[in-house]
Amino acid sequence: MRQPVSTISPELLQEWVCSAGEPDYRSQQILQWIHQSRAKGWVEMSNIPSKIQERLILEFTFSTLILQRKQGNAGMTQKFLWRLKDDQFVESVLIPASTSLYGETSDRFTLCVSTQVGCAYGCKFCASGLNGFKRNLEPAEIVDQVLSVERMQRGEGDRVITNLVIMGMGEPLANYTNLMHALNILNAKWSANIGARKITISTSGLAPQIRKLAKEPQQYRLAISLHGATDRVREQIMPINKKHPLSQLINAVEEYQSLKNGMVTLEYILIADLNDSPEQALALANIAERLRAKVNLIPYNEVDEFKWKRPTQTAQDAFIQNLEKFGAPTTLRREKGHDIDAACGQLRLRNEKELDAQRV
Ligand code: SF4
Repeated sequence: MRQPVSTISPELLQEWVCSAGEPDYRSQQILQWIHQSRAKGWVEMSNIPSKIQERLILEFTFSTLILQRKQGNAGMTQKFLWRLKDDQFVESVLIPASTSLYGETSDRFTLCVSTQVGCAYGCKFCASGLNGFKRNLEPAEIVDQVLSVERMQRGEGDRVITNLVIMGMGEPLANYTNLMHALNILNAKWSANIGARKITISTSGLAPQIRKLAKEPQQYRLAISLHGATDRVREQIMPINKKHPLSQLINAVEEYQSLKNGMVTLEYILIADLNDSPEQALALANIAERLRAKVNLIPYNEVDEFKWKRPTQTAQDAFIQNLEKFGAPTTLRREKGHDIDAACGQLRLRNEKELDAQRV
């Protein structure tokens, strides 16, 4: 079976090159084409002899992803729907600097990356979990989301993706081993060279895996999908809260915070008449203070299959004012992509509905 070229290590590639009777430097050239020059295919590798290109084609896959659909234009939020080898679909989202997720200026782009096909955690506001869990993504399917988008942006000049958020489809920490493998590659100088501090891993609250992540040598940022500041509210929309209630989650994040210092964000999707009360604002501010975390508010993007509504502008403003009054550092992420199925999993859901309709 062919192996993905995007996740082969420099050492193994060098062994392969030597076994093909080629000089050592050939492996550097191949890595350069894949990870730095953003080659769009084997034939672009002009300094690689054709007999080696032919062997590469026989033994390696160039990419594990095929672009099924793209929404949005350059300079705006863009969504990519990828078809995988088993005809499953996942999404990535490219977010320009002007909509930087945490209010920090970035001169380029953030890519939001998926880690699973579907999701087993069934949060009751999220399109990604609607059809359940299908499978974990392989390391190459995670790395290739970055490389594929980089290839498509090649005309822009230098590399464009400077930040990653591991927040697309799936629960990243439920695919821990493959995610760490992929991030080690994306973090490496010979690959995308994206610094660990530019990589945010988001979780719905898998407390044991947060503790494990705290012991990794890399200084990844951590984002917690909180979405409810008390167990009573959180349990209504996040079944994970029954297994790992807020007290457990907060203890695990405190441990992470003590080892990684200043690397935590609380994601809070603001949903009308569920979690937008002054009481929730106070409870959220207390958690943020305890964890020395920033709050990132996201007004809910409505999904047909769920009953929840986006709060009015007045209600959003009132919640922010309350958070500020209670001393919680807050940023508001106003999605720029309502017209492109902005909520995670919606593009895949729409694609699957269309494919089902064609089969009838
Ligand atoms: S919010 Fe995250 S953990 Fe919850 S169902 Fe969606 S993808 Fe899964």
